[in-house]
Amino acid sequence: MNYSNTLQTDLIKIIKKSQNIIITSHTNPDGDAIGSMLAVHHYCNLLGINSQCIIVDNVPKNLQFLNGAEKIEVYNKQRHKQLFSKSDLIVLVDLNDIARVRDMEVPIKESKAYKIVIDHHINPKDFADYYFVNNNIAATGELIWQLFMSDPDFKLNRNIAEALYAAIVTDTGNFHYPRTTAKTHNIISQLIEAGADPTELYEKIYNQSSFNVIKLLGIALSNLKLLYNGRVCLMPLSSVDFRNTHTSFRDTEFFVERTLSIEGVSVGILITEVLEKGQFKVSLRSKEDYNVASIAQFIGGGGHINAAGATFQSSDLNSAIETIIRLIGKLFE
Ligand code: 5GP
Ligand code: MN
Repeated sequence: MNYSNTLQTDLIKIIKKSQNIIITSHTNPDGDAIGSMLAVHHYCNLLGINSQCIIVDNVPKNLQFLNGAEKIEVYNKQRHKQLFSKSDLIVLVDLNDIARVRDMEVPIKESKAYKIVIDHHINPKDFADYYFVNNNIAATGELIWQLFMSDPDFKLNRNIAEALYAAIVTDTGNFHYPRTTAKTHNIISQLIEAGADPTELYEKIYNQSSFNVIKLLGIALSNLKLLYNGRVCLMPLSSVDFRNTHTSFRDTEFFVERTLSIEGVSVGILITEVLEKGQFKVSLRSKEDYNVASIAQFIGGGGHINAAGATFQSSDLNSAIETIIRLIGKLFE
């Protein structure tokens, strides 16, 4: 598409001119989505601008502790009708495709408000008025930080520091994914100085799994299969596995990373049955230049070179697995 980045100083001006801002992000929100939304919300609070975060799913349990998370609302057509008609700006963070807001796609498209996208995924689609996107950056939270830095009046506080820390720590996989840089650590250093506590935040984000979720991880690990001469590791989870542990596909957030801890494995695949029948979610992770976003795009998804996903239709788990395995073969041609 033909997007061009708007100057950060102009984006700040647009935000400051607004009176009612809606802040949103993608379905099945992760730390970068929630943290980036909340950072923008707290920034609006500093400026005395009304803002409301709205998403299509609940905030994941491990991120509910963040200040302001309790005020994030789940989209409801009736309840939010008025808000959409009076808002003059919609800020969409951590997404590059309007389809990823699911039921909010229509009200956003129909709204007269200006739309700003702040994002780091590849191939952004054309649906907004202003873009601030860069796919060389590890987390949308870093882009939000850059935006704030272009405001000479910006004052960092603990709420913003914790929100951005959560965004960056999760999207860098604890500072080890490829796009983690000295700049990332420099930002983190300033967030820590402003009150973000790495030990406390790690504990809250990563160490509060329910017993059932860890049992599910055990099942996922025992289901692992190696393919393509040990270069690919498949982690399937069926609806029976979820039922037996009273969990759902949304409890699998950090599972797929485990596949890459196996010697020789360059591509990891988590495939799960989603709540709606016939829907399957695939999470892909890779090392080096194995481009899993290109694979996800074949089935309507997307993401980054080394981390991508999609939700797609299939008759059953086995045929969904077959589809993915066949597509993954393209990486080794
Ligand atoms: P995950 O596998 O953790 O859900 O997602 C990995 C990466 O792929 C994330 O950056 C996420 O935003 C992106 N992603 C996941 N599912 C989809 C999808 O259905 N469509 C698009 N465009 N990106 C996705
Ligand atoms: Mn992100």
